[in-house]
Amino acid sequence: MANVDYPDPVRALIVHLKQLPGIGPKSAERIAVWLMQQGEEVSTPFSEVMESAGREVIECRLCGFFSTHEKGCAVCDGLQRDGSLLCVVEQPTDILPLERSGAFRGHYHSLRGRISPLDNIGPEELRIRELLDRLRAGAFTEVILALSSDVEGEATANYIAELLRGIEGISVTRLAQGMPAGGGLESADELTLMRALQGRVGLG
Ligand SMILES: [Zn+2]
Repeated sequence: MANVDYPDPVRALIVHLKQLPGIGPKSAERIAVWLMQQGEEVSTPFSEVMESAGREVIECRLCGFFSTHEKGCAVCDGLQRDGSLLCVVEQPTDILPLERSGAFRGHYHSLRGRISPLDNIGPEELRIRELLDRLRAGAFTEVILALSSDVEGEATANYIAELLRGIEGISVTRLAQGMPAGGGLESADELTLMRALQGRVGLG
C-alpha cells in the first residue's frame, strides 16, 4: 500500500521552510498548509518580496550593514554623522539597537562575527582587514569596541585593540561594562546601551 503524503509542491515548500531559523518540522508543515489554503492572493506577493529581498539586499562594503543596490547604505550615506567616531560591532543587526539608543551618531563597522576557535572562526574570517583599511584612510580618531562581554567577545576586543595600537592618532575605547554576554546588543535595552556608550572607557 502506497503511503499518502502531501503533493510534491507542498513537500518542497516544507523542506525549504524547515531551513528557516526557529522553524521546526511541525511549524514548517503548518505554514506550508496555511499558505496553500490562502491561495495565490497571498503566496504570490509573498514569493515576490522574498525574491526581491534576496536579490536586492547586499552587505555594505564599507560598514557591513544591510544596503540595497538601488538606495545604498542608510548608515554610510547618512547625513550629519560624526566622521571621527567608528563603533565596531559583531553583527550588522547590532547597529540598529545602537542607533535607536540615540547616543551615537558616528560610523559603524560590523565584523560579521567574532573570534571563536570552537567554530573555526579566526580573525581572517572577520572583516578586520576592511576595518584596518578604513582606519588607515585617516578620518577616524576614536574606535569604540561594542562587542559582547563573554569570553569570545573579550578575545576579539583584545585582538583588535592590539592591532590598533600600531595605528597613529587612534584611541580605542570600549563600552562600559553591563552589556549582555553572548546575546549580542539586540538584547540590551536602549537606556543600557546609552549608558554603556556614554560611560565608555579607554583601552591601554
Ligand atoms: Zn554602510
